[in-house]
Parts: sequence; structure tokens; C-alpha cells
Amino acid sequence: MKRSDYITWDQYFMGIAIMSANRSKDPNTQVGACIVDQDNRILTVGYNGMPSGCNDDEMPWDREGEGMASKYFFVCHAELNAILNYRGGGTLRGSRCYVTLFPCNECAKAIIQSGIKEVIYMSDKYADSDSTMASKKMFEMAGVKYTEYENKHKKIEFEL
Ligand SMILES: [Zn+2]
Repeated sequence: MKRSDYITWDQYFMGIAIMSANRSKDPNTQVGACIVDQDNRILTVGYNGMPSGCNDDEMPWDREGEGMASKYFFVCHAELNAILNYRGGGTLRGSRCYVTLFPCNECAKAIIQSGIKEVIYMSDKYADSDSTMASKKMFEMAGVKYTEYENKHKKIEFEL
């Protein structure tokens, strides 16, 4: 008899997005993304962090700050990193993006332009923000489906 308590595809990919978020050095917000194709093959992953070559230790991590002393000028979001990190041969057209937090409007643009057709998100805690509302407006116009991740209470414990 085969096992029956194996995780679903959704749990598997959201689990990888959560695992990726754990790589983030951002003290306030850790976000992960995992992009998969129609055959449930993982194409690329990402988390929020400074652009390649920009030393984490020399960059600001605070939200607020004088002049350029705010992370917002620099941090590359998880979804954008996942899209840009993709090194496969094909395109992301028709793929699904699992994210731990609903995409901001900048990432929504990149998601649409790269041809991703569905976003599965865990948290929508900034639902009332202009950024998130702009994302939803664009997704609806562009025909990108967005779906809240269900079954949030599966507990998986393991040591690393
Ligand atoms: Zn973003």
C-alpha cells in the first residue's frame, strides 16, 4: 500500500516558497516564491534580498531612513528574483507562482509580463494598500488568476 499522508502539490510548492523565505536577511519581512510549470516541475525560486553584488552588510535594512537609508530603494522582491533567476531554456509562460505574500504592484507587472498565469498566495495582509489593490486590478485586466492558498494548517516538522 502506498502512503496516504504525503503532501499535495500545493503544499509541496508553498512549502518550498516558505523554505525560500527563510533565506531572507530582511529583519521585518521574509517572502518566498516558487514558480512551477503545467507539469508541476519547479522552474525557479526566489526570496527578498539585495541585488547580486550589493553587500548585505553595507545596505540599509530599515523601512525608514534619511536619504537612501531605506531598504525600499534596494531590496529585490521574491517574485522578481524568482522571475529573473530563471535559467531554464523555455519561458515562464503559462506557469504558476506560489508566494508567501500577495505580490506588490511592481512584482505584479513582472508576473504579467513574464506570462505567469496564476498566483497562489499565502498571506494578503496588505490587502488594503494601494499597491495590492493595483496588483489585483492589473491581474484581473490581464487575466492572471489569483488564488488564496488553502489548507494552511498542515504542520510539518523536521530538523535541518
Ligand atoms: Zn514586489
